[in-house]
Amino acid sequence: MKYALITGGSRGIGRSVSIKLAAMGYTVLINYQSNDKEAANTLQLVREKGGNGELLKFDVTDPKAVSEALNNWSEQHPDEYIEVLINNAGIRKDNLMLWMTEAEWSGVLNTSLNGFFYVTQALLKNMLVKRFGRIVNIVSLSGIKGMPGQTNYSAAKGGVIAATKALAQEVAKKHVTVNAVAPGFIRTEMTEDINENEWKKQIPAGRFGEPEEVADLVSFLVSPNASYITGEVISINGGLHT
Ligand code: NDP
Repeated sequence: MKYALITGGSRGIGRSVSIKLAAMGYTVLINYQSNDKEAANTLQLVREKGGNGELLKFDVTDPKAVSEALNNWSEQHPDEYIEVLINNAGIRKDNLMLWMTEAEWSGVLNTSLNGFFYVTQALLKNMLVKRFGRIVNIVSLSGIKGMPGQTNYSAAKGGVIAATKALAQEVAKKHVTVNAVAPGFIRTEMTEDINENEWKKQIPAGRFGEPEEVADLVSFLVSPNASYITGEVISINGGLHT
């Protein structure tokens, strides 16, 4: 069996990616932090479409929890390895820099940037040993352009973009690709508080994107057709360019 881990795979973009990769034949390991009901719904959707999956609950910000969960998984699957990793777990805690609390700053950095480090490091060795791997990091337009009110989020996503480019060069010879996908506005719970009618005037495509559209791009980067693409940041934003 071929395995793919999707962090934050239980809702929004991660849910669509889980469903899409399962349809490609991967057994999807759906990671999430706390919402058991949403995770169970995602697993059910994967199975209804004929795919295979498992839930893997851990907090990506907690290095001990990450290594425990992934070591347990390896012990239970001694002959298998996780060949695809989608670093998707992320949170927003917007505030102007002047008013930003340390908790808002570190909460966002810990999830996107440190979470990327903990989970990727835990899986990378096996990808290198097996001489095949695909890593896709979900970043953001904010990490390219910088968005006011999001110094924390822009810094976290910008950090992951730089790490993507560096890691891609470290591991390319072992047939491990590392890319980033940078969405603009996508319709999920994360953007529920954003007024689409206001923002869509500035988006050339005239609408927010759907999680399935991001999942299509991720699935291409995971596929054999993308073997020679690495270290790239690919935007998906309806033309809302920097
Ligand atoms: P959602 O808020 O809809 O879903 C977030 C997911 O991440 C949930 O599955 C949640 O699990 C999980 N999660 C959050 N924190 C942790 C953690 N510490 N450990 C493990 N899992 C965690 O987000 P989206 O689908 O909108 O976003 C997905 C990614 O795409 C994020 O990285 C986001 O920054 C990025 N992005 C989103 C955009 C958008 O417009 N929606 C635009 C650009 C980038 P649980 O439910 O258990 O908390």
